[in-house]
Amino acid sequence: MKTQARVVIVGGGMMGVGLLYHLALEGWDDCTLIEKGELTSGSTWHAAGQCPSFIANYSMAQIHQYSNTLYPKLEELTGQATGWHGCGGIRFALTKEEVDWFRYVEGISRNIGFRMQIISPEEIQKINPFVDVTGVLAGVWTLDDGHVDPASCCNAMAIGARNLGATIVRNNRVTDIKSLPGGEWEVVTEQGNIICEHVVNAGGCYSDRIGAWVGVNVPVVNLKHQYVVTEAIPAFIEREVEMPVMRDPYCSAYYRQEQKAGLIGIYETRDSRDAWPEKGGQDWEAENELFPDELERIMPWLERVMERMPIFAEAGLKKVVNGAITHTPDDNPLVGPAAGVRNFWLCCGASIGIAQGGGCGKYLAQWMVHGESEINMASLDPRRFGPYADKGYNSAKGHEAYVHMYALQLPGEERPAGRPARTTPMYEKLKAKGGVHTEAFGWERPKWFSLDGREEECGFRHNNVFEVVAEECKAVRERVGVLELSSFAKYEISGSDAEAFLNRVCANRMPARDGRVILAHLLTDNGRIENEFTVTRLANNHFYLLSAAVSELRDFDLLHQRKLETEAVTITNITDNWGVLVLAGPRSREVLSKITEADLSNEYFRWLTAQAIEVSGIELRALRVNYVGELGWELHVPMEQLERLYDAVWSAGESFGIADFGADAVNSLRMEKAYRAYGAELTTEITMIDADMERFVKFDKEHFVGKAALLQRKKEGSNFQLVYAEVSSDDSDVRGGEPILAGEAVIGLATSGAYGHTVGKQLVFAYVIPGFETPQSTFDIEILGKRYQAEVLAEPIYDPKNERLRA
Ligand SMILES: Cc1cc2nc3c(=O)[nH]c(=O)nc-3n(C[C@H](O)[C@H](O)[C@H](O)COP(=O)(O)OP(=O)(O)OC[C@H]3O[C@@H](n4cnc5c(N)ncnc54)[C@H](O)[C@@H]3O)c2cc1C
Repeated sequence: MKTQARVVIVGGGMMGVGLLYHLALEGWDDCTLIEKGELTSGSTWHAAGQCPSFIANYSMAQIHQYSNTLYPKLEELTGQATGWHGCGGIRFALTKEEVDWFRYVEGISRNIGFRMQIISPEEIQKINPFVDVTGVLAGVWTLDDGHVDPASCCNAMAIGARNLGATIVRNNRVTDIKSLPGGEWEVVTEQGNIICEHVVNAGGCYSDRIGAWVGVNVPVVNLKHQYVVTEAIPAFIEREVEMPVMRDPYCSAYYRQEQKAGLIGIYETRDSRDAWPEKGGQDWEAENELFPDELERIMPWLERVMERMPIFAEAGLKKVVNGAITHTPDDNPLVGPAAGVRNFWLCCGASIGIAQGGGCGKYLAQWMVHGESEINMASLDPRRFGPYADKGYNSAKGHEAYVHMYALQLPGEERPAGRPARTTPMYEKLKAKGGVHTEAFGWERPKWFSLDGREEECGFRHNNVFEVVAEECKAVRERVGVLELSSFAKYEISGSDAEAFLNRVCANRMPARDGRVILAHLLTDNGRIENEFTVTRLANNHFYLLSAAVSELRDFDLLHQRKLETEAVTITNITDNWGVLVLAGPRSREVLSKITEADLSNEYFRWLTAQAIEVSGIELRALRVNYVGELGWELHVPMEQLERLYDAVWSAGESFGIADFGADAVNSLRMEKAYRAYGAELTTEITMIDADMERFVKFDKEHFVGKAALLQRKKEGSNFQLVYAEVSSDDSDVRGGEPILAGEAVIGLATSGAYGHTVGKQLVFAYVIPGFETPQSTFDIEILGKRYQAEVLAEPIYDPKNERLRA
């Protein structure tokens, strides 16, 4: 066996082999994959092989779409048959909310390019004459997907990879991984050691144990999942056309033809904590193994399938497959760099890994080879989970994900498992005041306040929370509001090279005066947006950085990895130590003045500055900035003082009509100010030029990461441009992913939106092709299947001159 390689991939299932193939296609041929048994001998060989394209997450839908176009071509590319059946799929909607969901995904499909149609129960029965459609409101018919033979498909990619120079070593277990002082990795195997630049953990159900060797937390839980295969069914024998793969929330099941037999897979909707890892895990020696049948576990759901498909009930069961499957807390796979270690990647945690292996392989290979992928990988990046995702959390969330496999998570719906994972001292108090929380990087963050005990009637359209959020916005715009926002990721950067370092890694210039606050962006080498920081200069070479909660680990990693060994810079993550209250609204100065001696006048405490002040006897950092576009301060306070500060602010604000507000109101308020959102408008897919953020780029600096590429983009011009527009829609907001249309042509993509309660208008951000970006340009947006006209706005619809912020 070789002793050196550029990349070692541990694990030869669909995910590892998919990556090996695409690294080879990218030109990295010095890659070795090591598999402890035969290829596919983990979860891959026994999978049912369905490859759906109906996925609501935009990036995941792109991944599935890529696999579904690759697999049918693989035989031609490699000579190995894959058993691809392009029979399509039909998923049922049993509620009107599910029909709305179909409409939403239909919009996504137009952008991504897979064919799907929403069809009636009668049309469903024309396509599948065997199914009983009782209770079905509609079906979504995806025409370009189907199922594949997992082992053959995986082997086809393995052949393709070998043909391009990759190496595969079978029957050789990796027993340890060590980091070497020079920054390389030493992969210890039964057949000897390999030194390499990059290691990829593609160990499927063993990936958490592999991660533990290098101190990497891999947030997965390993479960059991079953499908059954029936005897041959006469009706199928007589019929030439294959039935599509059916997906049915009534049975929490998929069912399809397997040759001339039936195949039925069940995601039982009861919590089954009898999963195998909690009983000690699977042996390293396990290979091509299944668990004993547990038919009784799935019987109630199997009976429902028989109601739907009576022809199945007439056939006997020939085979039960009870296999191992991994789930992550949010059910997306873990694809990208592991936190805290250099060049250690994850390509695991897939619960639909047959469908995802090709696409994940392609985009991870791009990331490894080019430093970024052409699609937004944030929802797959393993660093979207932090240390809070411990065994208990992963297990609770993973089980929750499993039982909801066929249940739609409605907008506004909060799933409780594993929560609360991270709370501040304010959590119980705000909950008692009616605070409804959502989760961000484990933190419980207030979303809206139920002052009359109402519960949200969740759905895709404006609901009974709409008027509550309107009231919260009104309080901020007309009086004063308070928001707990401790979930911000927070860092201190210090050391004699701190300023030079930040100037080198950020596109903006660091402020020269103490107390100045700026917005700064880290770019990739190719000039795309990695993240957004609010930077406060505390003192010479001492900066305070804030970024999105979900970026806490990722940004910490990025800052560390960008730091040169020669630079005297200390980067400290102080997220847990500091709490944050946002006090905003025209009366905020009066409120704060009641509890501080500090001079809050405009002359002394200007917009975009920060000062250390004392409020109600508490030393804190006050930043005169906010994301809602009003006079106001962010009060950053030692976490243990947060509740005391809140009580003081609240009692000072009562006579001014102070109100709590949450993240839903923030979204409406920031849209009125045309503030872009990290993760929606600002992603690694785009540049500051495309996002119309050039004012935060200082091209006159001699150097910053990404400068050359960004200058090139500026010279060439964008092929898509961010626009801010008003939409004529009625009862539904843009959520991102909706198609922008001019006639029948798709000319862009919406990224986020909200109803502006102050201005009484629907607002949206979108990227459009050149020719549609000028103010007053019009185009259509398709929201939940309906077209609405949108008009591009020249400036923020609310307070375009920032007079309220400067007041
Ligand atoms: C019953 C069932 C039906 C399913 N049906 C579908 C379906 O229809 N569609 C779909 O998309 N998905 C389906 N899945 C899920 C799918 O099987 C998995 O998502 C997919 O196989 C995961 O691939 P993987 O490469 O991550 O893991 P695996 O296939 O498990 O590969 C990991 C490999 O790593 C190797 N390995 C681990 N540790 C080491 C080590 N130390 N040294 C060397 N090698 C090591 C293992 O031997 C294994 O071969 C199903 C799962 C089950 C249980």
